Amino acid sequence: MTDAPLKLFNSLTRQIEVFKPVHEGEARVYSCGPTVYNYQHIGNMRAYVFADTLGRTLQWKGYKLTHVVNITDVGHLTSDADEGEDKMEKMAAREGKSAWDIAKFYQEDFERDLARLNVQPKQHPRATEYVEAMIEWGKSIAEKHCYELESGLYFDVSTVADYGRLARATTDEGESRIGDVEGKRNAADFAIWRRTPPGETRQMEWESPWGRGAPGWHLECSVMGEALLGFPFDIHTGGIDHREIHHPNEIAQNQAYCCTKGLDDPRNSGAKIWMHNNFLVERSGKMSKSSGEFLRLQLLVDKGYHPLAYRLMCLQAHYRSELEFSWEGLGAALTRLKRMVMAVAPLAEAEPQPGTTHPKFAPALEKFAEAMADDLNTPIALTALEEALATKKVDAGIKRAVIAEMDAVLGLDLFGLTRADLRIRPVAATITEAEIETALARRKEARAAKDFAASDAIREELAEQGVEVMDGDPLGWEWKLA
Ligand code: AMP
Ligand code: ZN
Repeated sequence: MTDAPLKLFNSLTRQIEVFKPVHEGEARVYSCGPTVYNYQHIGNMRAYVFADTLGRTLQWKGYKLTHVVNITDVGHLTSDADEGEDKMEKMAAREGKSAWDIAKFYQEDFERDLARLNVQPKQHPRATEYVEAMIEWGKSIAEKHCYELESGLYFDVSTVADYGRLARATTDEGESRIGDVEGKRNAADFAIWRRTPPGETRQMEWESPWGRGAPGWHLECSVMGEALLGFPFDIHTGGIDHREIHHPNEIAQNQAYCCTKGLDDPRNSGAKIWMHNNFLVERSGKMSKSSGEFLRLQLLVDKGYHPLAYRLMCLQAHYRSELEFSWEGLGAALTRLKRMVMAVAPLAEAEPQPGTTHPKFAPALEKFAEAMADDLNTPIALTALEEALATKKVDAGIKRAVIAEMDAVLGLDLFGLTRADLRIRPVAATITEAEIETALARRKEARAAKDFAASDAIREELAEQGVEVMDGDPLGWEWKLA
């Protein structure tokens, strides 16, 4: 493939920049992870598909990747600012479980969803494991950058240069909110430590120089990023909502910790490149975790869609564009994935021939490489993959190696999937695949014998059990469960 230099959009400078690693041959990435008080919705999962695709691209470019996705199991309030209740404590009270059990349960569910989306394993440090380090960090910045109020220790954003540059906000505009904490010097000031109110006990609380309490949410990412990747590291990612409050606050903490200097020098923000995926949106509000049954990956699986159809749906949009979810869109992605899997099937037995290419693949390989290097342009890269899949009269081993190389970046697991895996098969359906296949075989015999009455009867029987027979479907779907 061509060696196009990797270019990425840096939210901090609002510019496309050539990726130059801090450490030769290495890429160190931190992605803000989930708050494990509830299931993740598929919008959240878009953030991890994006981060994973970035990680895979860096590996494909030859960098040794260290990738951290933190687990927020303490400190995140119901608002990203310092208001409302602690998400973990609230859910624990609602479900009558301990906050620790809640965290464990939802972390496991999150990791299951990651695996189903073929997200490569990453480091998952938990915030509660870093509380001591957070207290140490707080101590080191308290005198110069913080002040105490009744409710805890607060960061004074006017003590660092260029506060809010990432969000393009100023200290005064900040995030002024109704019900904000009284006594804050600037609207955008935020909690480093939240003291437990007198007479109350939290399930998760620790002793600190600022009283018994819990860390502010933003602190964990600064502390874990520095501890696991070292400042400055290469890339910090998160959803676009984090560009407004969470990441500017992280950057301010990092400046206070290491240098206080301005952000013209990219080293001073902790990470050199800040990247943000845009949102997955859904019009009817099913993405909201407060809406009862919300859109989570399991719901897609329950309705019969393979999780990788969702990964493909994400890749079909550029990560900086909003992506609208619809079931029709998901169905179209599933069909597209099925076509790819069918094209790959004849290569199953071929011995891959890496390192050897055929000139016929050159245009597709070049297009793929340029697209991925151009700020991860996955929609174009997918078309290059399809061009490679459509290439005829070439050695199967070479073709297999080419497809495998592209798929290592996109993560669609094309060689692991079969046609049958991609059937639309809701989990609630009781009829088995074997029963359907037997009925279809009988129907085929009846048709061969020109017994159309019998053939129609079988079709009716299947329809009564929710099986729609799709004769002559151009995409080769033989049947689907409605
Ligand atoms: P949270 O658990 O709320 O901290 O969110 C986990 C990740 O998902 C963060 O990076 C968010 O920015 C991201 N995120 C939240 N909602 C969406 C959405 N609708 N689409 C894409 N990413 C999202
Ligand atoms: Zn974070």
